[in-house]
Amino acid sequence: MPGFELFGDQERKEVQDVLDSGILMRYGFDPMRNGHWKAKELEAAIQETFNVKYAQLTSSGTTALSTAMAVMGIGAGDEVIMPTFTFVASFEAIITAGATPVLVDIDDTLCLDPKAVEAAITPNTKCVMPVHMCGSMAQINELKAICDRHNLLLLEDACQSIGATFNGQHLGTIGDAGTFSFDFVKTITCGEGGVVLTNNETYYKNADHYSDHGHDHVGNDRGAEEHPFLGYNFRISELHAAVGLGQIKRLNDILTIQRKNNAIIKSALSQVDGITFRRIPDPKGDNASFLSFFLPTEDLTRVAHAKLLENGLGGNFYWFDNNWHYIKKWDHLKNATSLFPLNPSLKQALTSFDYSKFSQSDEVMGRTISSLINLTWTQDQAEERASKMAETIQGVLS
Ligand SMILES: *Cc1c(COP(=O)(O)O)cnc(C)c1O
Repeated sequence: MPGFELFGDQERKEVQDVLDSGILMRYGFDPMRNGHWKAKELEAAIQETFNVKYAQLTSSGTTALSTAMAVMGIGAGDEVIMPTFTFVASFEAIITAGATPVLVDIDDTLCLDPKAVEAAITPNTKCVMPVHMCGSMAQINELKAICDRHNLLLLEDACQSIGATFNGQHLGTIGDAGTFSFDFVKTITCGEGGVVLTNNETYYKNADHYSDHGHDHVGNDRGAEEHPFLGYNFRISELHAAVGLGQIKRLNDILTIQRKNNAIIKSALSQVDGITFRRIPDPKGDNASFLSFFLPTEDLTRVAHAKLLENGLGGNFYWFDNNWHYIKKWDHLKNATSLFPLNPSLKQALTSFDYSKFSQSDEVMGRTISSLINLTWTQDQAEERASKMAETIQGVLS
């Protein structure tokens, strides 16, 4: 998955432009910047590449989520539906907004189960936030239909699925807003960075202001700008944007390599009786950064995962026991452990939530292994890894 595997002259050139002018900030200093506007250029490239009207860069994927929630008007008392399998940033952004995360089961797509979403809707539900995990997609058509039917906002967390599509439309551009992360391990990287994608002009304008202290960006004197509303500093720096500008030019190559290497591993694992694969609503649109598969039982999956690591096959993840990605180990969320007093009603909602009701998610995650696809494998290395993986798992299942 990671763009950092491919890093070179084109990133260095973009960064050097910024170093030469010394203007590390994305706004202002017009006469001194030698005509370089890396953040603006990257936003334009994102709009073009992903076919979306507006892109607002931010300092991270997490702050992109926070910015998206702010412009969508999500705040105190609102419930946001999110999956049990995601990255901790999902609930961090919801809690930062003062809203309440409502966790909902996933299914064999490793993303939100539409039926479970519908069952979780209450009069306080404001937004459904599918997370397109591990390079592939949620059942976005069904989720969009639910949102339309119940008049809810749809926010797509596509942080892990840059370049993936559903029916030809880029993930992150289908809902009311979407986000990518450009942190160091994502499909393309800025070092740190993120972006809010939207076709809604008001959301975009407000995201531009909100992510820069609420400055309205009218005129050329920052000190004289008006502040139509409260904001925050979620800006990206020119240095980070410059890295991204080098990286976005590699996206097509990255996707091509991922898809080729993913197919090699999949073809070998398909020969093993007992392995089944993650359901992908539009297989052509998979960004292929991971190959996720299921074994028959939780016990066999644990043994197989341990054997893979034992045989030197790192990059295979058993999320069920992972601290970052699955509800089972999110004790800090369940206990509402915070450095500062949370809003009492939010705290009450977090601590009284029934986190034990996710047997459907457990049943899926307990049997899931996700195998990271590297960009730097040669054909031989990919094939060797594929047959070693197949052999190892075969040995456990027979
Ligand atoms: C990486 C990630 C984020 C947050 O991105 P950062 O840039 O690391 O803040 C959010 N959601 C998901 C699903 C992610 O994988």
